[in-house]
Amino acid sequence: MRCRQATRMISESHERPLDLQEKVGLKVHLLICPHCRRFDKNCKTLSRMMKAFKQREKN
Ligand SMILES: [Zn+2]
Repeated sequence: MRCRQATRMISESHERPLDLQEKVGLKVHLLICPHCRRFDKNCKTLSRMMKAFKQREKN
């Protein structure tokens, strides 16, 4: 898996569940690629922030 595919998969994982093959491929890539690991971390932080923000809007 290349970085471009990996980052796309990371983004898509927030929109839809990844299938097993995609999950494994992404996991392996994240093990060997610090750039995508950082991207994954940023995405997770961002998505958490978005969720918290949306929740605050509801209340
Ligand atoms: Zn990568």
